[in-house]
Amino acid sequence: MPPVSALDSARATLAGSLLLPADDAFDGARRPWNLAVEQQPAAVAAPAGVGDLRVLLDAARDTGATLAVQPSGHGASGDLTGAVLIRMTAFDELAVDTEAGILRVGSGVRWGAVVQALEGTGWAAPAGTSPVVSVAGYTLGGGHSWFSRTAGLGSDNLRAAWLLRADGTHERVDDDSDPELMWALRGAGGIVGIVTALEIDLVRTPSLHGWGLTFDVADATAVIRAVRDLAADAPSSLNVFMNSMRMPDAPQLPEEIRGRSFLTVQALSVDGSADALVDRVRRAGAVRREIAGATSPAALAAASNEPTEPTAGRGASMALSALDDATIDALVGFRDAPEQWPIVGIDIRMLGGALDAPRRQGLASLRSAGWLLHALSPMIPGAPVELGDASLAGFRALLTPARAARTIPTFLGPGKTLEDCGSTDDLGRLRALRAVVDPDGVLHEGRLPR
Ligand SMILES: Cc1cc2nc3c(=O)[nH]c(=O)nc-3n(C[C@H](O)[C@H](O)[C@H](O)COP(=O)(O)OP(=O)(O)OC[C@H]3O[C@@H](n4cnc5c(N)ncnc54)[C@H](O)[C@@H]3O)c2cc1C
Repeated sequence: MPPVSALDSARATLAGSLLLPADDAFDGARRPWNLAVEQQPAAVAAPAGVGDLRVLLDAARDTGATLAVQPSGHGASGDLTGAVLIRMTAFDELAVDTEAGILRVGSGVRWGAVVQALEGTGWAAPAGTSPVVSVAGYTLGGGHSWFSRTAGLGSDNLRAAWLLRADGTHERVDDDSDPELMWALRGAGGIVGIVTALEIDLVRTPSLHGWGLTFDVADATAVIRAVRDLAADAPSSLNVFMNSMRMPDAPQLPEEIRGRSFLTVQALSVDGSADALVDRVRRAGAVRREIAGATSPAALAAASNEPTEPTAGRGASMALSALDDATIDALVGFRDAPEQWPIVGIDIRMLGGALDAPRRQGLASLRSAGWLLHALSPMIPGAPVELGDASLAGFRALLTPARAARTIPTFLGPGKTLEDCGSTDDLGRLRALRAVVDPDGVLHEGRLPR
C-alpha cells in the first residue's frame, strides 16, 4: 500500500478532491456501479483538470501507487489494491459537428447526455444500451451497440483521443500520429494512458425503423432458429437482438412479472426497409405483442429499460462463432430447467456486417464471431448467491463448444482478463507497449493477466 501521508500531501495541491480511507465520504466514493464488486483502492480522486492529473501522476510515482481510471465503474473488476481510483466527472465537454458527423466528448460524459444531444439531428451514437455508462469506459473497452452491424464497435469509431501520457505529456493522438497507441486504446483502455476527451464518428441514420416482437416461450426454439437463419442474408443496415426473460417465482418480486417467461426479438433498421425480412421471424411463432414503426435513439434507450441506479448483479457472457441447432436446443432446455431460475435474462445479439470489416485497427474485435450472448443474474435480497453462480457456470459450460476465439472487454465479467479478448501475441504487444509508454508502471494494469 502507498503511504497515506504522501497521498495526503498531494491532496493539498489539487483543485479537485482526493479521499482517503479515513474520510467519511470514502466508502461511498470507492464503490463501483455494480455493487456486487468489492474494490478497496488506496484513495479516490476527482481531478478538476489535466493539472490535477499531473499531480496524481507525480504522487503515484513518489508513493508506488498506481492510477486506475474508472468513470462510473460498470466495468469494475475488483482488485484495486494500492491504486488511486480516478473519477473523471469534471471532464464534461460535449460538442457535436453535425456537418461532419463527429462527436467530441470529455471522458466523464455518459451516453445518456450524448443521445439527448443527438436527438433530431439524423445522427446516432455508437452507444450501448445503458444511458449511465460513460462514453470513455464503453469506447475504450470495445463497446457493442444497436448500430454495430451497421458501423462496427464503439472502438472502431474512435477517431482520436486526447491523452495524458504517463510522462505528463497531454496531446491529441490519432492513427497518423501514434497507430500503436490507438490500437491499444481501442479495447485495452486505461492501461496505456489517461484519456481526457474522445473524438468519435457518428452513425448516419436516415430513417430509423424498429420492431419489437414478443413471443410465448413455447415458440422459443422456432423463433431463435428463424433469427439465426435471417443472419445469413440480413443487410448490415439491420441490427437484431433477442432477449429471453424468465422472472423467478420469488415473493420479493411484483405480482405482474413474478414467474413469467417470454422471448422478445428486437430489430432496428437504419434505412427503414426491412419488413419482409422481419416477417420471416414474425411467422415463426405466435406473436403476443408487437410494436413497430419509426423510432429514434432516445426512444431506443428508453425501451431498453436498463437500470439507472447502482445495483448488485452478476453476469456471464460469451461470443459464439455460430448458433447451430444443437446450441439452440441446449439453450432452450437450459432456460426451461427449474433450477436455472437465478438467470433472469439472456441477451442474444446478431453480429456480422460491419463487425467483420472494422474500419480501424484495435485490440477489441468481434470479427468472424456470429453471436454475442450475455446472461444476467441479479442479486435478489435474501436469495443465496451460490445458486446464481451455479447457473452462470452452467450457462458458460453449455456454450463453450460454440465459443468464438474472442469477445470484447466491455462484456468481461469481474475477475476476467484480456486473455478472453486477444491472442498471446496481442497480450505480448500490449505489454511491450506498456514498457515503452509507462516504464515505471504508474498506470494500473487493469485486466492484463498478472
Ligand atoms: C446496464 C448495463 C448495460 C450495458 N450495456 C452494454 C452494451 O450494450 N454494450 C457494451 O459493449 N457494453 C455494455 N455494458 C458494459 C459497459 O459498457 C462496460 O462495463 C464499460 O466498461 C462501463 O463503462 P464505465 O463508464 O462504467 O467504465 P468503468 O468501469 O468506470 O471503466 C472501464 C475501463 O475503461 C477504461 N477507462 C475508462 N475511462 C478511461 C479514461 N478516461 N482513460 C483511460 N481509460 C479509461 C479503464 O480501463 C477502465 O477500467 C453495459 C453495462 C451495464 C451495467
